[in-house]
Amino acid sequence: MSPNPETRAPRAGILVTGTEVLTGIITDRNGPWLSERLREIGVDAAMIEIVGDRPEDLLAALESMAAAGMALIITSGGLGPTADDLTAEIVGRFCGREMFLDTALEERIAEILRPMMSRWPDLTEEAVRRGNAKQAIVPAGATILEPEGTAPGLVVPPADGRAGPTVLVLPGPPRELQPMWATAVATEAVQAAIAGATTYENAIVRLFGIPESEIANTLRTAEADGLDLAPLEITTCLRRGEIEIATRYEPEAAADYERLLAFIADRHAATLFSLDGSTIDDQLAGMLAGRTLAAAESCTGGGLATRLTDRAGASEYFLGGAVVYSNAAKIDLAGVPPELIERHGAVSIEVAAALAEGIARRFGADLGVGITGIAGPGGGTEDKPVGLVCVSVYAAGANATEPRRLTRRTVMPGGRADIRDRSVTVSMHMLRRVLLGETD
Ligand code: ATP
Ligand code: MG
Repeated sequence: MSPNPETRAPRAGILVTGTEVLTGIITDRNGPWLSERLREIGVDAAMIEIVGDRPEDLLAALESMAAAGMALIITSGGLGPTADDLTAEIVGRFCGREMFLDTALEERIAEILRPMMSRWPDLTEEAVRRGNAKQAIVPAGATILEPEGTAPGLVVPPADGRAGPTVLVLPGPPRELQPMWATAVATEAVQAAIAGATTYENAIVRLFGIPESEIANTLRTAEADGLDLAPLEITTCLRRGEIEIATRYEPEAAADYERLLAFIADRHAATLFSLDGSTIDDQLAGMLAGRTLAAAESCTGGGLATRLTDRAGASEYFLGGAVVYSNAAKIDLAGVPPELIERHGAVSIEVAAALAEGIARRFGADLGVGITGIAGPGGGTEDKPVGLVCVSVYAAGANATEPRRLTRRTVMPGGRADIRDRSVTVSMHMLRRVLLGETD
């Protein structure tokens, strides 16, 4: 029986192995990737654990996941030909299955290795043969997933008469693990382990310009007003200065979600910018169609340009920009009057506004964005602290209409990366507001 009777979906644990991942030399790309794939097929990804290449730690992790009621455990890594790759053997022991040399598999791996052997003439045939044989020693009764590199994946159900999770064993390199996924899910053994998976709806709304605590408050108020939130799994997170509310629910709870959505939309009309999961990046791409934009960036070092151009078709509206770090660059490239810098300082709303207008003119663009700030560390003063950022958006007037301008001065918390990231997000939201017709 499931330890949590309210959760009908089968639960899965992800066990990432590898000392290089544990120590942080390599960032784990498999855990998050597998978690998303599980979600897509209606399996509840309950935990991700990382262990080094130690057999006792691997076994202990498998046992604790089994004790926590996982129906499926997915491992990544440790399937290679070397002695420190011991996942298959440990999983075999955990599932109560004998190991045996699958000679047909050994032959198929040898086939894969043959062209590699001719490319590396110095390889000793004996070492390769032993490694090859090691990779073909698999638990009896396991389903073999054909290698994408040289390592086969495995689906290992508990031995007959034993209770416990089925273990899906996948290789470590993401380029080998990812293509194996679809094959693995289609196997009878995995299907049997995840029987009862439900389909979930996943919905996302985004807000900008309010603290996370306000959303917590809204959710409490919604419940106090009689909305049933129990069938909804709501996760709020702060990402790049935006609040993201992700909700997962089973199809029969759709009406509960609609009621929640209406409640949020009513209370947060001014800050709710995405009801359909679209990002600010998606929205700007749509709104900028038929217009052109240029950017002059100081403290963000080109971060806005990087983000705006991170999609196909961006060249239709983003003409280009300049990283104007020095005063000379602000003057020469973005046309900022030198006396403006002298009078107000390079980090000022006046200079931000001049950057926005100057870069739009320089590129002949309909819109210009200017960003100037102190991303630190160091370089701050009492009235201009680290984190002070001035952003301005300029929209040239069309058909005798006045130009529009939106300029803001904010002080942001965090280190350089946070301040840069946040400044880019702020400028994108200001751009959106100007495109919607707002002006100072
Ligand atoms: P190999 O046959 O390459 O040894 P393997 O299945 O034994 O494959 P590992 O030895 O655990 O896998 O990892 C091999 C390499 O794959 C790592 O050095 C790393 O570059 C990459 N890799 C492994 N696990 C991860 C992970 N979780 N995230 C990102 N990369 C990974
Ligand atoms: Mg290895």
